[in-house]
Amino acid sequence: MRSARILKTKEPLHLEDLGTPKPKHEQVLVRVESAGVCHSDLHLWEGGYAGPQGIFMKVEDRGVRFPLTPGHEVAGRIEEIGESVTGFQTGERVLVYPWIGEGLCPACRVGEENLCDLPRTLGIYQDGGYSELILVPSHKYLVKIQNLDISASASLACSGLTAYTAVKKANAQASETMVLVGAGGLGLMAVQLAKAITNAQVVIVDVDDKKLSEAKRLGADQTINSLSIDAVKGIKDITSGIGSEIVIDFVNNAKTAQTTINMIRKRGRLIMVGLFGGALELNLPLIPLRAFTLTGAYTGRFADLIDLVALAKSGKIQSVVSRKYKLDEVNQALNELKDGKIIGRAVLNP
Ligand SMILES: [Zn+2]
Ligand SMILES: [Zn+2]
Repeated sequence: MRSARILKTKEPLHLEDLGTPKPKHEQVLVRVESAGVCHSDLHLWEGGYAGPQGIFMKVEDRGVRFPLTPGHEVAGRIEEIGESVTGFQTGERVLVYPWIGEGLCPACRVGEENLCDLPRTLGIYQDGGYSELILVPSHKYLVKIQNLDISASASLACSGLTAYTAVKKANAQASETMVLVGAGGLGLMAVQLAKAITNAQVVIVDVDDKKLSEAKRLGADQTINSLSIDAVKGIKDITSGIGSEIVIDFVNNAKTAQTTINMIRKRGRLIMVGLFGGALELNLPLIPLRAFTLTGAYTGRFADLIDLVALAKSGKIQSVVSRKYKLDEVNQALNELKDGKIIGRAVLNP
């Protein structure tokens, strides 16, 4: 099987022939038909995240080892199954849940493998889907997708799942306002989910009018271009000067965090999702005085991926796939994502 691999950070990915693995026990070999190209893959490629005071948080200090085949948003067809696999047949179309844990820590024990203390995520800690084939450790990480569009399904496993977790965590009540910051793949999915599972008024903020009009088409009640108006003032105007109950920051860099924290009203919930990095200076008395909640959301549970696939099957949500690349165009795909040229999601079709 041919795989696109990161041999060294910041260097172009290299296509290698790794030989075809043979699935044993519960393992399943999946022929990759679509692999989403995610911002996290850029962080892997660049070798880390921007932390406070110019500190670079290296992924290698967090357990990542190179060479590595990235790709954690994988959909395809079952090629071969191990002898203990039940409930799945060769040829079935599946979405892979990549957020695999070691199974023993407190998070794993309550079904939150995505927050495992010793994660074994496919495409981050083990080889992933930038490849013709992927070896999935167990059938229990597969979701049947039947006739869902293969390219649109792939990103449900990461951006879709993350958006779903964040929107659920917001616990929106009817008539509350939910501000979404960033109209990239996550923000556009969150708009649809917010409309599908809550009765909140959805406001989306971005700097790109094209992305904002896409958000509007997908159901956003209001849009704000933060280049033309001050986003905090825009939110205050919409909320009678009070601020929003919910803000979900899909960008979460030093600039957006400084604004989002000023958009929430007393008792509000700020959910940080993006990994663009940086630092935030907090006005400490304001935290007790306004009694808001600041929390994070990272990917999601296997059980939630099943719900999300059901929502996609019902037609309530659709992933926006704007560009498709072949496996040997992987470096172009990553560069175009880095340059902000992708609306919605780019996928590799190996
Ligand atoms: Zn991702
Ligand atoms: Zn665990």
